[in-house]
Amino acid sequence: MSEPILKATGIEKHFTAKRDFFGRPQTFLRAVDGVSLTVNEGETLGLVGESGCGKSTLGRCVLRLHDLTAGKVEFDGQDISKMSVAELRPLRRKMQFIFQDPYSSLNPRQTVFATIAEAIRVHGLLGNASREEEKERVADLLSRVGLRPEHMNRYPHEFSGGQRQRIGIARALAVEPKFIVADEPISALDVSVQAQIVNLMLDLQQDLGLSYLFIAHDLSVVEYVSDRVAVMYLGRVVELANASSIYDDSQHPYTQALLSAIPDPDPRRKKKRLVLQGDVPSPLDPPSGCTFHPRCPIAEKGRCDREAPPLREITPGHHVACHLV
Ligand code: SF4
Repeated sequence: MSEPILKATGIEKHFTAKRDFFGRPQTFLRAVDGVSLTVNEGETLGLVGESGCGKSTLGRCVLRLHDLTAGKVEFDGQDISKMSVAELRPLRRKMQFIFQDPYSSLNPRQTVFATIAEAIRVHGLLGNASREEEKERVADLLSRVGLRPEHMNRYPHEFSGGQRQRIGIARALAVEPKFIVADEPISALDVSVQAQIVNLMLDLQQDLGLSYLFIAHDLSVVEYVSDRVAVMYLGRVVELANASSIYDDSQHPYTQALLSAIPDPDPRRKKKRLVLQGDVPSPLDPPSGCTFHPRCPIAEKGRCDREAPPLREITPGHHVACHLV
């Protein structure tokens, strides 16, 4: 088995939601509340959950784009949890982020060449290379992501959504990363181009040995791209297992409800839909005990509403946070 490139232990990220008269923090929003996970070299870990469950915040925490409230992140064997901006700089190029909205993540005033060459220059990857050498490198990166070299002279508004996401991927690849957090990289795209971007990411992973944390709310996409899947609910991981175990043998009632909502392409197959009651509770005031208990169809009164279930390994590699599993 390959070594972990990323190891996150007990990650917590709380944002101050309200301050008192003296400016002291009074109310906290618990976006991520004690998450531990690893991503192995060359692996894709899918991270799924409803909007607002904390998955994007977790993705930013593991890259130290957010400071942590508590917990530890080790990247490539180094503890980066408390590193300063200067200490992080040499590691930054090895860990990259692909944004959900490729348009807002690109500078509209910069050509594609300027955007990608800037990333290369900031990290000094081509030393004192001439402009021609930089152009060659940018052209090479554009070809890798399925664009043409002449695209480097255009501006972001001249591209379609799918092409912009390809530019975002080329910019991430420009600094030769080992690990990429892809935050809903296809959810802003037309269905017809989603598969192209997913297949591009898979091809790049094979060619370059990349590791991904792939964040999405669409379980069918996550099944296609992931080796393992972590399901998040209200800031915590409630189930973590191989993609096949999650899809064929899910154990947590929340995962089962999410899976039951995936439309089946075969209309003759009858699928029982599990509809969850109520809305996702506010992370400002999460429920006591198991935070899923107000919506859980099998919750046990007196236990589920009092004790928070730990994430336990029930079979090798399959972890579930539920008292009744
Ligand atoms: Fe449902 Fe209780 Fe399991 Fe939580 S611990 S998922 S409330 S059965």
